[in-house]
Amino acid sequence: MKMNIKKGDNVLVIAGKDKGKQGKVMETSPKTGKVTIENVNVVTKHKKPRSQQDKGGIIKKVAPIDASNAMVVCPNCGKATRVSHKEVDGKKVRICKKCGASLDKEHVKTVKKEAKKAEKTAKKAENAEKIQKNDAKVETEATQEKAVKSAPKKSKTTEQGK
Ligand SMILES: [Zn+2]
Repeated sequence: MKMNIKKGDNVLVIAGKDKGKQGKVMETSPKTGKVTIENVNVVTKHKKPRSQQDKGGIIKKVAPIDASNAMVVCPNCGKATRVSHKEVDGKKVRICKKCGASLDKEHVKTVKKEAKKAEKTAKKAENAEKIQKNDAKVETEATQEKAVKSAPKKSKTTEQGK
């Protein structure tokens, strides 16, 4: 199921018993189309004791609600908004329909992260190249040394032979 709500979003509940409440999305499950929102749809469960260690009792739990009952609150204009999509640098970004700002703060972060990663890999490649060059240098030096060492020996043997 396609969802416009993502983990970490601030959302407004627009239907159900917690209508009007705002909260942060703690979990989304695209399979069922549900979202779990902080302090929204808190249910009390009366748990039976199942063993001597498990005393049971009343447990408060946040239950997921249908994603269609919540709207993303734009961090830029502070309004609950519908979401439009836009592609930026090959990535889908959610856009606030009211003010046009990006709803994906993470997008900026990931772009920065990727830039850093690219920088790192570039540096690594550079280093690898340097190491390869150094290896090549050592090899050529070694072969040159060998050549130098073997050359006088040959001449000596030829001299001795004379
Ligand atoms: Zn907005």
